[in-house]
Parts: sequence; structure tokens; C-alpha cells
Amino acid sequence: MSTPSVENVVIIGTGCAGLTAAIYSARASLNPLVLEGPLPGGQLTTTSEVENFPGFAHGVDGFQLTQNMREQATRFGTRFEQTLVQSVDFSTMPRKLVTAERTLFAKTVIIATGASPRLTGIPGEKELYGGKGVTTCATCDGAFYRKMDVVVIGGGDSAAEEALFLTRFASKVYLVHRRDTLRASKIMADRATSHEKIQCVWDSVPVAVEGVAEGAVSGLKIKNVKTGVESVLPVKGVFVAIGHIPNTGPFAPPLAVDEGGYFLPEAGSQVRTNIPGIYVAGDCSDHVYRQAITAAGMGCQAAIEAERWLAEHNG
Ligand code: NAP
Repeated sequence: MSTPSVENVVIIGTGCAGLTAAIYSARASLNPLVLEGPLPGGQLTTTSEVENFPGFAHGVDGFQLTQNMREQATRFGTRFEQTLVQSVDFSTMPRKLVTAERTLFAKTVIIATGASPRLTGIPGEKELYGGKGVTTCATCDGAFYRKMDVVVIGGGDSAAEEALFLTRFASKVYLVHRRDTLRASKIMADRATSHEKIQCVWDSVPVAVEGVAEGAVSGLKIKNVKTGVESVLPVKGVFVAIGHIPNTGPFAPPLAVDEGGYFLPEAGSQVRTNIPGIYVAGDCSDHVYRQAITAAGMGCQAAIEAERWLAEHNG
């Protein structure tokens, strides 16, 4: 039987974090292998225009941006394989990763699997998601709603933050929450509830996004859970901010996660984990910033860490 080959670095995920890690490790001549999951390019591909990624003075299409990163990674010798990791064994050296098709061995692994926005599942949400008025990112899409009325669904820090950010553009921001107090931290809750442009709609759950036939959001139907009364908020944008689900798949355990399920890096590092040579980057371990540029920065850090680890342990 032939000895299986051992990769220097396997990167899991092709969002900003994974692709940046690929660019750096490919340029360091590590010949990285990138495993591409079900959403090539990550969350950025669901955004139409990215206006805040440095270097693009006039904005860049989200899909195009990740395509550029992919091309850049490929130019330096990155290999891509479309597959899903089903299980891992990080107790052995080299590390073992099992996909549907084969078993892989790697000296270092960078996990950049991202997070998926939690959605409400109400009718119209899926149909009008991404460019048609339903979105999960005010930082990405808020500027498209200048002088329009919008609604944010949720009651946590994300919802308060999104609502406050949207006041820069929108005429009016409804904040629809299923209870009568925000879960958000006091300072954020106070800022949101006292803002003149934000109208809190308490004790209300979303029922349906309207406008499917027209192909653009025309309103959000809501229901007051105390009175049972339904009404429609006449908005052009629906921002869903009810949390994220980190894609930690088969990696946690053995990797440590926090109470929200996000990978928990070692103290003093953003990317080193509790297992030597295994790194995390991007939204799978970051519930605070969640930006393309911060994910890219973490991907860079992870690649540099992997390179150093290999230099120390590889001989
Ligand atoms: P979160 O704290 O889990 O809040 C989610 C909110 O969505 C809750 O208010 C929840 O209602 C509501 N919700 C959940 N499922 C819903 C559904 N199906 N329909 C309607 N509403 C629903 O999530 P998050 O706001 O994204 O925050 C996640 C973590 O990141 C938190 O630890 C937060 O402090 C942190 N964060 C911090 C900052 C900051 O410091 N600047 C910014 C963003 C996030 P209930 O309240 O009734 O459960």
C-alpha cells in the first residue's frame, strides 16, 4: 500500500478568511490545498456591492471580490477541491480529515468555515433575500436605503447596532422585537430606543415579507403576540438580525468553542486554537466584527502562524 501524501496546510473555507490564508500560504510556497464547501466565496457572495473594502474607491461586487481573491490564490499555486469535511482526528500527527470522497492528512489546518446568518423562515424572506430587499448586513447594504423606511428584526446587540447604523441612511427604522425589552446591552438598547429615527415595535413577530410578486420588498407583515392583531409596516428593506450560527461542523469538539458556539482561540491570539498547528479565522470565531476585511486579516494571521509552525516543526 502506498503511503498517503501529507499536505503542509489544508484550508477549509473559501470566504475572505480562507482565500486570504490561501494567498499568504501559497506565496510562502506551502502549496496549500483549499477545501471548498457549499457556498464558494462565503457570505460576501450574497452581497451585491461592497463599498467598504479598502482599495476599491468605487466599490466592488461581492462575488467579483472573492473571484479576484481566488484568482490571486490560484496564481501562486493554491489547489482547490470541492468537498465537505465529515470528521477529523486532530489527536494524531499528521492531522486527519475525512471527506465523503477520501481521507486527507495535513501538518497544519486553517478552519475558515464562516457563520450563517440565522433567518426567520417566514414566507417571502428567502425569495427576496440578497439584492431584493431582505438582507442580514446593514454595514454592507444600508447605504442602498437612503431616504427610505426600513425594518430591523431582532432584539440583541446586532439588531440595535444595525438599527443605529441604518439611521445614517434611512428616513425611519422600525425595530421589531418579539418581547417588550431589548436583549441588547443597556448602552446599545438606550441608544436605539432613544433615537429619533428608530421606532420600536414591541411584542411583535414577523409573519411575512411582502412584495414577492413584484420581486422587491414592499412591506413586512407583523403580528402582535399579545393582541393577535396583524399589521403591515410599509418598508423597502428588511434587515434580519436575530443572530448567527457559526459553522463549526465536525471540528468542535475537539476545538474549544465559547457559549455562543464560536471557536475560542487561545488567550493572546485571534487564530491559534487549543490544538497546536490548528488555526481558526473569520466569522467562525468572530462574532464581534464580522467584516470582510477583519476576516481577511485573520486569514493572513492564520497563514503566518501555520508557516511559522511548519518552520519550527518541519525541519
Ligand atoms: P443575540 O444576542 O442572540 O440576539 C438575537 C435576538 O434575536 C434576540 O433578541 C432574540 O429574541 C431574537 N430572535 C431570535 N430568534 C428569533 C426569531 N426566530 N424571530 C424573532 N426574533 C428572534 O444575537 P446578536 O444580537 O447577533 O448577538 C450575538 C452576540 O454578539 C451577543 O453576545 C452580542 O452581545 C454580541 N454582539 C456584540 C456587539 C457589540 O458589542 N457591539 C454587536 C453585535 C453583537 P429574544 O431576546 O426574545 O431571545
